[in-house]
Amino acid sequence: MAAPETDQNKSARLFARAVELMPGGVNSPVRAFRGVGGTPRFIRSAKGATITDVDGRTYIDYVGSWGPMILGHADDEIVNALASAAANGTSFGAPNELEIQLADEIIDAVPSVEMVRMVNSGTEATMSAIRLARGVTARDKIVKFEGCYHGHADSLLVKAGSGVATLGLPDSPGVPASLAQHTLTVPFNDVPAIDEVFKQHADIAAVIVEPVVGNMGCVPPQTGFLNSLREITTRHDTLLIFDEVMTGFRVARGGAQQLYGITPDITCLGKIIGGGLPVGAYGGSRELMRNIAPTGSIYQAGTLSGNPLAMTAGILTLRRLRDKSIYNTLESTSAKLCDGLSGAAKAAGFQTITNRVGSMCTNFFTGEPVVDWVTANKSDRALYGRFFHAMLDEGVYLAPSQFEAGFVSIAHTDEVIDQTIEAARNVFRLIG
Ligand code: PMP
Repeated sequence: MAAPETDQNKSARLFARAVELMPGGVNSPVRAFRGVGGTPRFIRSAKGATITDVDGRTYIDYVGSWGPMILGHADDEIVNALASAAANGTSFGAPNELEIQLADEIIDAVPSVEMVRMVNSGTEATMSAIRLARGVTARDKIVKFEGCYHGHADSLLVKAGSGVATLGLPDSPGVPASLAQHTLTVPFNDVPAIDEVFKQHADIAAVIVEPVVGNMGCVPPQTGFLNSLREITTRHDTLLIFDEVMTGFRVARGGAQQLYGITPDITCLGKIIGGGLPVGAYGGSRELMRNIAPTGSIYQAGTLSGNPLAMTAGILTLRRLRDKSIYNTLESTSAKLCDGLSGAAKAAGFQTITNRVGSMCTNFFTGEPVVDWVTANKSDRALYGRFFHAMLDEGVYLAPSQFEAGFVSIAHTDEVIDQTIEAARNVFRLIG
């Protein structure tokens, strides 16, 4: 007789089946735990600050679906509104009023955006922004920064962060060299390198940047870096694209551009603006955005773009984020978390460097300031893996990679943060 399935092994059993059906058993690489080893947990449900796996274990969650869940999981208001929206039809392929409401929320919040186009993912947003920039400048080259990730479109998968960095992959096969040659890369936070690239190439359509990097772990811009980007791109009639897929409505309601007072030409959004449903968007001045079809000739379209379910979750999320006190709360809980974690590490004799902007943060296992990909890559990944698994055993779900940011939501109360710090104290003693 077969042994009854214990409560301990359902994730492992599902993963064994999943790897037969999907590459690596996952639909997005970092979920496979390759960056930390071991078997990923299959998640059954999520509520507030926690997720629960199929074996019934509940974890305090600092991944937050990689950023969108700033209000916490399964927020009652959003869940109820989604149920009623679904009853009215899930997609029309025709205009609906909710699209206007979400566009209004975005334009009201994000300083540089006067007109916006909704898409279904961050990848679509950045890919379309690049096409717009190339289309209006009639130039092919773009500049990106090493360790920044802007989704998986061909032109942007060059020296990329996130899963590419975690897995230590070369630039992806399948991206034609003739296309990749138009993507120039420079180190983040390195103004002389940017100057140099503009000296060497006269035909740069756009510079795309994560204004606060999340995809090599959290790496903030150094003072003046974003200003320099703005100044240099303006001087060369090159468009500046802020990829705020992660930072939009995260580091401030108006994103990094509000926080640092820089006006990019094109802004890419995603994650939070969909409130946990698939949404992306790109926007800019009216003049620029009118180049997109059907007013202009630069083509971009989408069957499910602007669908009422995604719009509903986005609208309610962004309306809630009008409350400024949310960002103050996130600032103080996130500061408390980071101080607690680095204090626990230090007490156990580990060196860590904490980078944090608002509720986006990373504790790097290194002793040297992390300002770019080279310094991020000096982190002790094996140690991070041990820390990650020991925290998981303690009921805390961190990003399964040293090179991803952690996210705090408003559901992470002081009490939840205290529990996390206590878990970290135990863990550092254990792995010390
Ligand atoms: N840009 C940034 C800054 C991101 O962090 C991501 C995803 N992590 C993307 C673009 C791509 O978004 P998506 O996964 O929705 O395609």
